[in-house]
Amino acid sequence: MKDCIFCKIIAGEIPVKTKVFEDDKVFAFEDINPQAPVHILIVPKKHISCLNEASNENLELLGYIQLAASQIAKQKGLEGGYRLVNNCGADAGQTVFHIHYHLLGGRVFAWPPG
Ligand code: AMP
Ligand code: ZN
Repeated sequence: MKDCIFCKIIAGEIPVKTKVFEDDKVFAFEDINPQAPVHILIVPKKHISCLNEASNENLELLGYIQLAASQIAKQKGLEGGYRLVNNCGADAGQTVFHIHYHLLGGRVFAWPPG
C-alpha cells in the first residue's frame, strides 16, 4: 500500500538495519527502537492495517505469524520465555498501521503491561 512504511520495507524501498527472517508470507526485522535485548517485528507481506481489519480469509496467515515467532524465538535462544505483542489501535499504542507482532525477549517482563 502506498505511504505505508512497512510495505516500503517489505518492497526493499526502505532498508532495515537487521533483517531476521523472510519467506513468501512474512518479513521480520529488528525494531529501530528496541524495548528489550531482543525486539523483532514480524510483519505479514500482505497489507492489513490492524487486527480489526483481518477476517477469516487471514486465519491461516495469522497462525503462520505466531509459528514464525516461535521459530525465531528458538533461533534467538529465548528458552526462558518471550512476549509476543500486537498493538491494535491508537489506545493500544499502534503507530504503524500495517499489522505486526512485536517479539520481545532477553529480559524479564512485568505484568500487567503499561
Ligand atoms: P506499534 O507502535 O505497535 O505500531 O509498533 C511500531 C514499531 O515499529 C515501533 O516499535 C517502532 O520502533 C518500529 N519502527 C518504525 N519504523 C521502523 C523502521 N524503519 N525500522 C524498524 N522499526 C521501525
Ligand atoms: Zn503496509
